[in-house]
Amino acid sequence: MAFNEKIRKDYQNQLSEIKGAGIFKEERLIHSTQAADIEVEFPTGSSLEKVINMCANNYLGLSSHPDVLKAAHEGLDHRGYGMSSVRFICGTQDIHKELERRVTEFLGTEDTILFPSCMDANAGVFEAILGEEDVMISDRLVHASIIDGIRLCSAQHDTFKHSNMEHLENKLQLHENKRNKIVITDGVFSMDGDTAKLDEMVTLCDKYNAMLFVDDSHASGFIGPTGRGTHEKYGVMGKIDIITTTFGKALGGASGGCVSGRAELVEMCRQKARPYLFSNTIAPVVVSGILKVMDILSGSTERRDKLEANADWWRQGLSEAGFVLQPGDTPIVPVMLFNAKLAQDFSTDLYKEGIYATGFFFPVVPKGKARIRTQISAGHEMHHLEKALDAFIKVGRKYDILGKTKQEIIDRYGM
Ligand SMILES: *Cc1c(COP(=O)(O)O)cnc(C)c1O
Repeated sequence: MAFNEKIRKDYQNQLSEIKGAGIFKEERLIHSTQAADIEVEFPTGSSLEKVINMCANNYLGLSSHPDVLKAAHEGLDHRGYGMSSVRFICGTQDIHKELERRVTEFLGTEDTILFPSCMDANAGVFEAILGEEDVMISDRLVHASIIDGIRLCSAQHDTFKHSNMEHLENKLQLHENKRNKIVITDGVFSMDGDTAKLDEMVTLCDKYNAMLFVDDSHASGFIGPTGRGTHEKYGVMGKIDIITTTFGKALGGASGGCVSGRAELVEMCRQKARPYLFSNTIAPVVVSGILKVMDILSGSTERRDKLEANADWWRQGLSEAGFVLQPGDTPIVPVMLFNAKLAQDFSTDLYKEGIYATGFFFPVVPKGKARIRTQISAGHEMHHLEKALDAFIKVGRKYDILGKTKQEIIDRYGM
């Protein structure tokens, strides 16, 4: 018998261990659209609560934007529901090519190829362009999907300490005689909200003849003066060889990803990237929605400007209230609590105050660095932010952490 009682017991034990370690993940059911105001059933089976969402990647507030919905409806009517094929057989519509053109223009690159997700883009890209004689040198804090892509690729692999340019240079020297070198980083690191020093990285890559890869999933649409991404912020547009990004965050939030960059590298992906060759691409209805998102972003910087103002207000408000924050200048604002149980209890109390913000702790972040990661949106109005700040202050008082230093919080609650 395949799934016999012994095997079942074994998996039950593994699940109990996960629960025992306090790292069991539970879903919270949302009964509304994704927005600043949501209706949540948590725990499952309890009554619906109206809460303010402070932890979505809905940076530009476009997930439920009426114009995007309208465009998606029209796309559904004109291009149907599904393609029932991968791209190169009979799964490519005119709108897929149009979206690739629009993304290329927006990011300031040479060409773009769509993937079902950014996870798939990262899983497929390295294997498609690198071989055994090449080396991938990645920041130690890159996203899990990049780590998977690295695992799937036969090229050699090395890492450098997070955002440490001296260490990166050492590694570039160490691998100087390798055939192709590629330096790999996130643009914005999602746990801390810090940005990669892309200007310095471009200089180093030029000096050592290395390609530069940036995953800008937490940046595309809102980082930089016109929201093109981290490369715009650092003044190095046109100098990043490969950018991967997602349409599942700021850019409408549905799904999909892409590889954008040097024409030959993108063409290599079309020829060889397995998630592109063997999996359906973004559904027509979603492509239609994303095209509208591109229209909205190309027409005006209003949303990214509002997001920036909101994030500045929020960061300053928390800071003045006496919270320990992770420093940065992105809409990701981590409130540091250090202790995992404190982060969980804090999140539960916030929820009772009508604020939805999940606690993050090991293994999502290192031990002793537990936090509530807040994420600001252009969909937040001042009344949302004021209510959320009041709730944070109320709960912060309850645990007596306002105005306390990192050490004082750790002394009281432990790591
Ligand atoms: C969210 C995220 C992804 C995955 O994006 P999907 O399109 O949802 O697969 C990849 N890389 C980074 C850095 C991300 O933050």
